[in-house]
Amino acid sequence: MSQDQIAAQNLHELYKRLSIMSTLNNKVILVTGASRGIGAEIAKQLAAAGAKVIVNYAGGKDAADKVVFAIKEQGGDAIALQADVSKAEEVATLFDNTISHYGKVDVLVNNAGIMITKLIKDTTDEDFTRQFDVNVKGTFNTLREAATKLADNGSIINFSSTTTKLLMPTYGTYVATKGAVEQLTRVFAKEVGARGINVNAILPGPTDTELFTKGKSQEVIDRLASLNAFNRLGEPADIAKIVVFLASDDAKWISGQTIGANGAMA
Ligand code: NDP
Repeated sequence: MSQDQIAAQNLHELYKRLSIMSTLNNKVILVTGASRGIGAEIAKQLAAAGAKVIVNYAGGKDAADKVVFAIKEQGGDAIALQADVSKAEEVATLFDNTISHYGKVDVLVNNAGIMITKLIKDTTDEDFTRQFDVNVKGTFNTLREAATKLADNGSIINFSSTTTKLLMPTYGTYVATKGAVEQLTRVFAKEVGARGINVNAILPGPTDTELFTKGKSQEVIDRLASLNAFNRLGEPADIAKIVVFLASDDAKWISGQTIGANGAMA
């Protein structure tokens, strides 16, 4: 290869990198539950793509601060804000503080969630209420705020789960919460489309985080990992890359959809 060809190739690589970096430039993105797991990786990838990121957490302040530190170390811009998404007042304050700090919110990533797996006969009232409070009320609270506080032409990415297709025993209450999230997604997409806002739900399959691995033997983890076509667990990065795309203007025409991210598991 000649010197000129090498220089042209280097320039091409540089432009390619710059265009990826700028995909989300000037977007302010609120990620709920971003102190750990999938949310933490989403926050990092969004920041790497140029977004200003709000790392929301419920109780894990130290973990959230570490995510912010990691983002800043890479030259990104982020702040950590505490709010329990199940509490309407805290969610309202979360949006208001985001707008005070960054001037606007363009994208909402509704990632915060909990999972309690029990047979329905063993599920307590408290299990049921807690699960619905965080997964359904939490999503509802943020959508209600977003209806008036998200910027025009923004995007919303809600979190459901591939378990809504697998329908396995012990996932009854969890699946019920995620089914509700999918329905909120479809209706809300029609309510805010006139403002240019698109709304989708992503449905990860088993992904290597505490939510999935906690309480499971290695044998159970391996068995569930073997149920997709790639014969491996999903990684938070697999999901985060899809969120980066859905948060970009290139995904604008996708709205009201439930998008599987599970390596052909279902
Ligand atoms: P993790 O348990 O690893 O992390 C959950 C995150 O949510 C933490 O940052 C936690 O913050 C936050 N959180 C929990 N409750 C609240 C609350 N009330 N308000 C605000 N934040 C809260 O979970 P994952 O990363 O695995 O899951 C992320 C999403 O992906 C969830 O919605 C889950 O249902 C979904 N999902 C996960 C799958 C998997 O296999 N991992 C598969 C399919 C879907 P803190 O530590 O501060 O409490």
